[in-house]
Parts: sequence; C-alpha cells; structure tokens
Amino acid sequence: MDQHTSRELYQEANEHIVGGVNSPSRSFKGVGGGTPVFMDRGEGAHLIDVDGNRYVDFLGAYGPMITGHAHPHIQAAIAKSASEGTLLGTPTVLENTFAKMLKEAITSLEKVRFVNSGTEAVMTTIRVARAYTGRDKIIKFSGCYHGHSDLVLVAAGSGPATLGSPDSAGVTKNIAAEVVTVPFNDAEALERALTEWGSETAAVLVEPIVGNFGIVEPEEGFLEKVNELAHANGSLVIYDEVITAFRFTYGSAQELYGVQPDMTAMGKIIGGGLPIGAYGGRADIMERVAPLGPAYQAGTMSGNPASMRAGIACLEILKEEGVYEHLDHLGKLLEEGILARADRYRLPVKINRLKGALTVYFTTEEVKDYQGAEDSDGILFARFFKEMLDQGVHLAPSKYEAWFLQTAHTEADITFTLDAVDQAFQNMRELL
Ligand code: PMP
Repeated sequence: MDQHTSRELYQEANEHIVGGVNSPSRSFKGVGGGTPVFMDRGEGAHLIDVDGNRYVDFLGAYGPMITGHAHPHIQAAIAKSASEGTLLGTPTVLENTFAKMLKEAITSLEKVRFVNSGTEAVMTTIRVARAYTGRDKIIKFSGCYHGHSDLVLVAAGSGPATLGSPDSAGVTKNIAAEVVTVPFNDAEALERALTEWGSETAAVLVEPIVGNFGIVEPEEGFLEKVNELAHANGSLVIYDEVITAFRFTYGSAQELYGVQPDMTAMGKIIGGGLPIGAYGGRADIMERVAPLGPAYQAGTMSGNPASMRAGIACLEILKEEGVYEHLDHLGKLLEEGILARADRYRLPVKINRLKGALTVYFTTEEVKDYQGAEDSDGILFARFFKEMLDQGVHLAPSKYEAWFLQTAHTEADITFTLDAVDQAFQNMRELL
C-alpha cells in the first residue's frame, strides 16, 4: 500500500508538533516505530488516508466512534449547533436535556456536571471525593489508565505503559505517595491495602471493565467486594466509565453487573465524536462542588452546545433497538474467526471479548490482570499490526488496546478483516 503522502506529512509534522502527533498513543512507538497514517476522512466504519487508501477501522478513535464516522444523525446535530452558535457561555436547555438522558440511562447519577475530557472528569471526581471525606489518598489498580492528571499517572497502563514509562516525569514524589496501587481482580490485595491505609483513603478508583490493558472483565463478585471493602472503611467508590459508558449496554458497566458506585466519570462515546467529559453520582457528594460547595471545578467550554447536541444524537442512535446485539454479533464473528485462524497457523492467541469490544493477545495464558497483558508478545503484535495495516485494516498501534466495533460495521467488513487476519497469521509463522 503506497503511503508516501503520510510519510511526507509526518516529516513535516515532526518539525512543528512534538513527536509529530498530538497524543503519544497515535505514534507507532508501541509497535516498533514507523509512520502513522494520516487520514483524510472517515466514512462509516472506514478511514480513507491522504493517499486514497481505504481501511476498515477498529480504532474507533480509541472508543468514542461507536456509530462509525460522519453518521448522518450526528452530522445534522453538529450542523444545527454550527448555525445556532457553538459556544454561548450561558446555560442552555441542551444541558438539561442531556443531563436527564444520562441520569435515565445510568441510575446512580443523581447529579451530573459536564466537562471537556475524560481526564478532567476523573481528576474532578478525585477532588470531590477528597472534599467529601476529608482524606487524601486514593487506591487504584495497576495498569489502569485514568487520563493524564498527575495523580493517576502512577502505575498507569495504556499510553504510558506502551511507551515504557509507567510513571511520568514531572509527577512529584509527594503526589505519587498519595496513590496506592493494587492488582485488578485481586480483592485480597485491596483488603490488605485498605487495612493499612483505609482511614486515609478518600476513594477506590476502578474501571468496572478494564479497557486499557485490553478488555478485562471483573471476576464474579469483584465489584461487589470493592464496594463492600471501600464502604467499610468510609472510602468512596469511583467508577471510571470513560471507555465503558454506553459501550456494552445503554445502562453502562454498572448496569451490566448490577453494582453502583458513589461517583462515575464518563467521556468518549457521550460526546458523539466531539470533546466531552462528565462526572456525577450521589447528590450529597456532588453538592460539595462549586457553586454549592467548597470543591472548585469550572470550564469555559463545559456543556457547550455542539458537544451537547452531538452527544444527545449519539445516545439517540444507541437507544435504537438491536444496536448492541449487532455489535455483539459482529464481535463474536471476529473472535471466532480469529481464533480459528490462530489454530490453523498454530499461533498463541487469546482473545478477551465483551460484546462489541475485544483484544487479541499473543499469549498462551488467560489475561486477567495487567501482568497478563504485559506478557502478551509485543513482537508478534507489532508484526500483526503492520500486516493488517498493509491489507487495509486499521487497529490501534498498541498491544494493550481494544478493537472497537461500530454500528456502521457490516458482515462484509468482518469477512474482509478475517481474510486479512488469515494472510497476516500465515506470514507471521516465520517469526515462530
Ligand atoms: N479514563 C479511561 C478509562 C480512559 O480510557 C481514558 C482515555 N483513554 C481517560 C480516562 C482519559 O480520557 P481523555 O483522553 O478524554 O482525557
């Protein structure tokens, strides 16, 4: 596949933009280097690059694009906000409408606040939890990425792990000392941590389904245990549903497992492809936020009409019947097809899939925590990624990321992808 224009643009980008990219996960460092493909546009579940090459897209812009690109209903919503003014700096009825939609979908949200990114949403839940409890520490799970605010760049996965620097430079030792990290799915380790630091712990922060070292589900009873242990110590439970909100079911991960946190952070899908974040939870906790309470949080762009309209439109699409069944159906076809081909070519492949999201690990062991994902073979993944890209299938350039199915994907896209997998696996046999 000729990608010469991408190479030229990447060279130019490197002269002006640090590292040539505006988010490190877009570089190909995690797959041994190379030129990120510059896209010209997205059409449904496809991306078209600046050289005119077409790709089936499983990146989904790292999660938000569950409907596929340029969905007509979302296009219309954005066009409407463009004609009405995209930022008014006053309350608008759209904020009420969207807040009510979120509350109807996710019943633990008694009060919400809109912000502009997942990072902001998580960062603020932590501040509010500290304001509410009068405590400083948080407990998080190793390898889980919660955005790039200082506090959660300790033992973070995804971007930082792929780049081989789990702890960012510039995060002070004092801040790092406020974070206790335990392995995901390890209730005993959590109990030990809370026995030691429970009285100082403001909150336990958890992705109810991990999305950042691949898709890793909580083991039976784990989320119940998180609630029980945290609450017994007077600590709050915060769910980071930035990836999982509206991903697997309209009610989000907390509905899927029937366990409710005290606070939830959201982002990605709820913006319909525009920048957004939101957080919310119990009213008595949320009422600690300014202007009602002493915990300050603000935002010039927060609740802007464009993001509100795009988010409302996206949720309207997801509310339609059969949407999540379609994603699940295609996810299952992919999983079964990839596993059959791995078997045929004797490649060590394990897949973690939940409905329309899956991760392909090159390992012989089940992946239940960060260590498992780390043990997945990065060299095999890097080759797989490049083979797939060459054949017109765009995955995330990291062994830790998920493939995200989109409502716009069709069975024909899956057939095309599985043919590419077949060829990729066949070529990869020389690495064994
Ligand atoms: N939390 C989780 C679970 C995420 O996956 C991400 C982004 N990958 C974030 C928080 C941060 O969101 P954003 O990139 O919108 O700041």
